[in-house]
Parts: sequence; C-alpha cells; structure tokens
Amino acid sequence: MKKIITSFLLLSSLSFSKEIILVQGAMDMEVDYLVKNLKNPTKEHVGSWTFWKGTFENHKVIVSRTEVGLVNAAAATTIGIERYSPTIIINQGTSGGHDISLHTGDIVLGSEIINIGAMRTDRKEEGVPENIRDSIFFDVVQRLRDNNDNLTTYKTFISDPSLIETAKNTSYSQGKLSLGTIGSADQWNREIERIKYLNTTFKTKTEEMESIAVAQTAKAYNIPFLAIRILSNTEIHNEEFNPKTALWCQEFTMNVIKNIK
Ligand code: SAH
Repeated sequence: MKKIITSFLLLSSLSFSKEIILVQGAMDMEVDYLVKNLKNPTKEHVGSWTFWKGTFENHKVIVSRTEVGLVNAAAATTIGIERYSPTIIINQGTSGGHDISLHTGDIVLGSEIINIGAMRTDRKEEGVPENIRDSIFFDVVQRLRDNNDNLTTYKTFISDPSLIETAKNTSYSQGKLSLGTIGSADQWNREIERIKYLNTTFKTKTEEMESIAVAQTAKAYNIPFLAIRILSNTEIHNEEFNPKTALWCQEFTMNVIKNIK
C-alpha cells in the first residue's frame, strides 16, 4: 500500500507544473508562435497589455505581449508579476547587431543588460558643439530600493546564471549562440559610428527596446530572469530586418523552456 501511495505521489508530482514562466515578446510577430503552442490558452487584456495563460510541457506558461519600448515593457512586467506570480521571466525577441562577429539569425543570451539611453552630459557653453562621445552613463535610473529602504545603484542587470546555463546548452541551428551584453533604449540606431561607439563603450553585442526594463523589474521582485535576443538586422553588415528571425527566436525559447526542469 505504501508503495502504491509513493508511486502515485511520484506520478502526480511528475505531471504537476514545476515553474510558472512569464515569457514576453513586444510585437505580434514575436509572440504568435508561442501563443499557438500553448495548451488550453485563455486570453486576458489589462490596460494596453495582453496575456495568454496556458501550459507548455510541464510548466504553467503565460505569454505576454508587452508592446514596444521601455515604458510598455516595465508596465507589462509589473502587471504580469502581480497577476500571475511567475517563478521565471523570459524576455525574448528581435534586435539589431552591434558586434562585428554576429550576423542576422545569431542569438545573444543576455548575461548582462544595460540601459544605453541612460546618459547625462557635463555643461558645455553655448557654441561648444555637442558630441555623443562626451556622454556619461547615468545610472540613477537603474536604482532599486529594498525592504529596508536602502537604495542600490546598478550599472547592469544580469540574467539568472542557471537559466543562462540551460539556454547555453539548448541546441540552435539557424545561427550562432553567444553570451554577452544586450543594450536597451527607446532608440533604433542606424549610424555605424554611433553603433561602434555604443559597442566599445558598453560592450553591447546587440540593441533592442525592452529587456532592461524587464531585467530591472524582475530584480526588484527578485525573480529569476533571462534575456534572449536574436539579431533580426545588423547595420554593421548592412543586413536588413528579417521577420523570420522572430519565429526562430520563439522556437529557440520554447526549446529552452523544454530544458527547464
Ligand atoms: N517596425 C515596427 C517597429 C519596430 S520598433 C512597427 O512599425 O511596428 C523595434 C522593435 O524591434 C522593438 O521591440 C525592439 O526591441 C526590436 N528591435 C529590432 N531591431 C532593433 C534595432 N536595431 N534597434 C532597436 N530595436 C530593435
């Protein structure tokens, strides 16, 4: 009898969902394949933001369409956390290459994420020309307050090391898989010299418009976070936006979720 009960408990724990995963994409093309693969999805719309709740493999999965940009991403993440209490947050989608070794279709796992729009300048008198190279990183926007009322200032946020490890060991065949810094801002940069400046200053491998907001919000709630960004375009190699990359990134993300035990 004891044996039967033990094996029943084992079986039921095997089929029971292990994690609650909030997986995000900004645009329709970055979430549609994820939504299609959810089992028994239910759709919820809150404010401007949309969530599809279902299951995938053994996990509860909530797909979140954040819309574009830092404000949208922060709001969608906060709502997603407060409503669904995720144990893991994954932000994924398209991006523009900063690193000369990377091409369209390559994926960057964001071991670090930085706000490349956070800049201040020292005073220059009238007539002295402006120059982006004189910008100073303005880390006050990456400050978080803990329960004891203490403020900590972050230069970068990181993806959870064990999630990075899982993603690193997930197979990917459409391009290269690499680790590195993802730069976020409400910007789309196409000037090669500006891209080179951002790449040398912040060590960014690619740029996009959401993951810093998600990384920072996830850190505020201490929820493990992972940023996965595919290069959909890269000015460095004159490669224009390829919409297929949005699908490849979702396929890879689903394989990562399969590998989360
Ligand atoms: N063409 C789209 C707008 C895309 S805005 C439209 O009109 O609806 C850019 C979105 O793609 C953001 O969600 C951002 O994260 C991502 N992105 C892809 N390549 C980018 C790049 N080179 N720079 C900044 N964001 C990029």
